[in-house]
Amino acid sequence: MSITTNNASSAPCRETTDYTNPIIHIDPSMCTGCRRCAGVCPVDAIEGQPGEPQTVNADRCVICGQCVQICSVYASDWADSSPWVADSRRQERLRERDMPADIGEPLFAAYYSCSLKKVTDMMAKPGQFRIVQCAPAIRVSIAEEFGMPFGTLTPGKMAAALRRLGFDRVYDTNFGADVTIMEEGTELIRRVTEGGPLPMFTSCCPAWVRFAEIEYPDLLDHLSSCKSPMQMLGSLVKTYGAQLDEVEPASIYSVAIMPCTCKQFECDRPEMESDGYRDVDEVLTTRELAYWIKESGIDFMDLPDEEFDSPLGRYSGAGSIFGVTGGVMEAAIRTGYELLTNEKLPKLQLDFVRGEEGVRVAEVQVGELQLKVAVVAGLQHAYGLLDRVQAGECDYHFIEVMGCPAGCISGGGQPKLMLEKHRIEAYRARKSSIYGHDAGLQVRKSHENPHIIKLYDEFLGEPLGHVSHHLLHTTFQKRGPGKQSRSCNVLSKEGTNNSIQ
Ligand code: SF4
Ligand code: SF4
Repeated sequence: MSITTNNASSAPCRETTDYTNPIIHIDPSMCTGCRRCAGVCPVDAIEGQPGEPQTVNADRCVICGQCVQICSVYASDWADSSPWVADSRRQERLRERDMPADIGEPLFAAYYSCSLKKVTDMMAKPGQFRIVQCAPAIRVSIAEEFGMPFGTLTPGKMAAALRRLGFDRVYDTNFGADVTIMEEGTELIRRVTEGGPLPMFTSCCPAWVRFAEIEYPDLLDHLSSCKSPMQMLGSLVKTYGAQLDEVEPASIYSVAIMPCTCKQFECDRPEMESDGYRDVDEVLTTRELAYWIKESGIDFMDLPDEEFDSPLGRYSGAGSIFGVTGGVMEAAIRTGYELLTNEKLPKLQLDFVRGEEGVRVAEVQVGELQLKVAVVAGLQHAYGLLDRVQAGECDYHFIEVMGCPAGCISGGGQPKLMLEKHRIEAYRARKSSIYGHDAGLQVRKSHENPHIIKLYDEFLGEPLGHVSHHLLHTTFQKRGPGKQSRSCNVLSKEGTNNSIQ
């Protein structure tokens, strides 16, 4: 493999005129203008008069998919066959949305473009080595699509289903999350000891990254230069993984299953490639994977539990909690504390970063350093904090931002929840399952994952080293008109418990 120098973190931000968003749509023939979607949009991108069909302002939209989650106006799947239903445009709508013709579910006014046909067409081509990775939030939600209670944990059945669908390797984005902690943690230590810029923001959530690029481009050098776990794993699959499997990178078709509607935008970003190959070729959401499993006649709940493939599918508990708000912070502290102090972290469950939508702040003693951290869930809550950073009034070291209200478990591509009470119930159950999964794993810190240790020994060298820098780090770019005028939220919640004893 050839490695070239890429000064990712120090490169100046480029300005682009590409503000397009071909992913989120509102069907004007169905939209009633109720504006429930406008109520959840964190950036006021839904435009239109009440009672009239709405439109999405693509320059503002951060592709979080929360409008798609909340929209409850739908055409039922029996519209075509029923003599009582006047509107029978179902097949036409399915074509407009690129959805398979035999999907048996209602079609909602707000929707995202479906990538399933593109994936199944590529999967049918001969001579490809087909690889898939799954985000942490999928294993606690996919079973809901097959009638199981909210939050049912099924990593083994998911791995089995993906093999039945034809993938040669079933890997796990959690491994990419473990790599992210190694890189991002090292970057934070370097910024703290070498003079910033601080605070450093996480860069795992593509909706947050797009938000920062549109609304706060002057803060882009505060974002960690790390690619997201999905992109990191994608890059490793076509380099380290290709070497281990003795396959040509050009023959690898790499798919990611994500809870997020913005991940397709992220994987299409021009900078998301390594050595001339796209890191990830296509992204499917949880709902699209469920369509595929149903369309293929696989009895999901009857599948045996199977393991993810080794080594790029073996993860720590720290990797698995990336799926909830506060998870990246908790994973980073678990590793950062031990690397900085050379002492064992006395307690792994860090309740002060766990919580709900809003902002949590805490101070943590890490050796000599009084580490000041903040966790933001829901982009509408980021404005106040970012304004303070912009004004130089914020002395935090590290800030995690996730675009969706409870982190990735509440992503726009997750199973559709029609009622508010179900939404609350589902988010709590999925979160509890993720934390339960972490608690049940033998290895719960990224730097103790033996497959991560081997990856650095055999391939990457050291975190933030030459190879890591080339494959795992990226740049960000200004997109568009800058911050819009809107009311700013102040910090809505403060963490009180910062004890790790
Ligand atoms: S897209 Fe859905 S939620 Fe938004 S206004 Fe139209 S019907 Fe209402
Ligand atoms: S995807 Fe998110 S940002 Fe875009 S219109 Fe919908 S709610 Fe707003």
